[in-house]
Amino acid sequence: MDASTTRSSQRLDGRFVSLNLNVRGMGPSATLAIKERCRALRAQGRRIYDFGLGQSPFPVPTPVVEALRRAAHEKDYLPVKGLPALREAVAEFHRRKEGVPAQAEHVLISPGSKELMFLLQLVYYGEIILRTPCWVSYLPQAQIIGRRVTLIPTTFEGGWKITPENLMWVLVGANDDGRPRLLVLNYPMNPTGHSYTVDELRDLAEVARRYNLIVLSDEIYGQLHFRSEHVSIARFCPERTIISSGLSKWCGAGGWRLGTFTFPPDLSWLLDAMSAVASETYTSVSAPIQHAAVEAFRCGVEIERYLWQVRRILSALGASCVRTLQEGGARVVPPVGAFYLFPDFSPLADRLARRGVLTGADLAGRLLDETGAAVLPGSDFGRPAEDMTARLSYVDFDGSQALAAGETIPLDQELPPDFLSQHCPNVLEGVQRIASWVAG
Ligand code: GLU
Repeated sequence: MDASTTRSSQRLDGRFVSLNLNVRGMGPSATLAIKERCRALRAQGRRIYDFGLGQSPFPVPTPVVEALRRAAHEKDYLPVKGLPALREAVAEFHRRKEGVPAQAEHVLISPGSKELMFLLQLVYYGEIILRTPCWVSYLPQAQIIGRRVTLIPTTFEGGWKITPENLMWVLVGANDDGRPRLLVLNYPMNPTGHSYTVDELRDLAEVARRYNLIVLSDEIYGQLHFRSEHVSIARFCPERTIISSGLSKWCGAGGWRLGTFTFPPDLSWLLDAMSAVASETYTSVSAPIQHAAVEAFRCGVEIERYLWQVRRILSALGASCVRTLQEGGARVVPPVGAFYLFPDFSPLADRLARRGVLTGADLAGRLLDETGAAVLPGSDFGRPAEDMTARLSYVDFDGSQALAAGETIPLDQELPPDFLSQHCPNVLEGVQRIASWVAG
């Protein structure tokens, strides 16, 4: 594993820590670095199981592609905050899907939700609260800007979730109730594939309200909840929740670069500050992409059918990978959404140590070298270096082919037993190789 994928390994050295970070020594983002590495290894003829970057394997739904084709001639700069019809479609999407009172005037469109998170951290003067494991870029973004970050480590036993109790412990420990703080939640979760229950969200919302936190609710995987049961924390504290979404995951359009933030009215000062920065930097998102995104966020029948197929394929594949990893001796929280697993190999730590594997980065490096399976070590997600965890994105398959095959099977039926071996063979084989290697 190269240095760029292990650079965050020193970050966490206590149970709850506050970090003042800086930019020196930063490498490229771990997710993008591993993608490049896989490409290079494949170009050398190596057999690689690419479980690194979290990119949807599925195609962009046909009505959205057609909308983009129709909009190809759109060439004017669009308003900084976004195409009005798109802002309305996004607000309506959240009203319908999450039952929250979103309004078009409070929606901000950008080239990817990653950019919006960066802008938010830039304009918001407070401290950022994150759980670990957390998505790879939250911490480096805070580092670039020089924001103070508080990490809340979570555990396998606790389903890798922040509880109201450990959130409160951090808040009370800070001994300053009025301090401006931004709590970042992400569910279904990257890198663990799990999500919060309605009761857990309600309890977290109560703590957020009591301590006057702003909540950034990263719901980019919301539509990939396998049972279509995603609930937003904005239902319980709408006045302080910013909902983050975009086209990258549920719409299979990561490379289109379109993200959205939906603010409550009281936080429109943040939206205005972010769009001021946007106006001096990227100006606006590509016009054809924004026109096509209107079709996506309207989420018509054909897109809903697509989502049902996508969910049942990911659900079956996730469950199969969990079984294989557990047979190899890993502990894994079964996913309820997205396309990630975060196996914990600590039950095998002694055995691994005898083979010279002492850190998560050692493990990821050896897996890549000796099995061809590319995963990211837990340290890229804010975990300590010695954590025997890794993130596995089970996306290395031809989503178009799997989707076409899924469409021939009625939605109320289970996928046949050989579906995964026919349409996702690389994932099954790669995960089996990981399980055999760690068990060996
Ligand atoms: N969300 C994706 C992942 O965690 C990567 C997207 C990106 O880093 O821009 O792998």
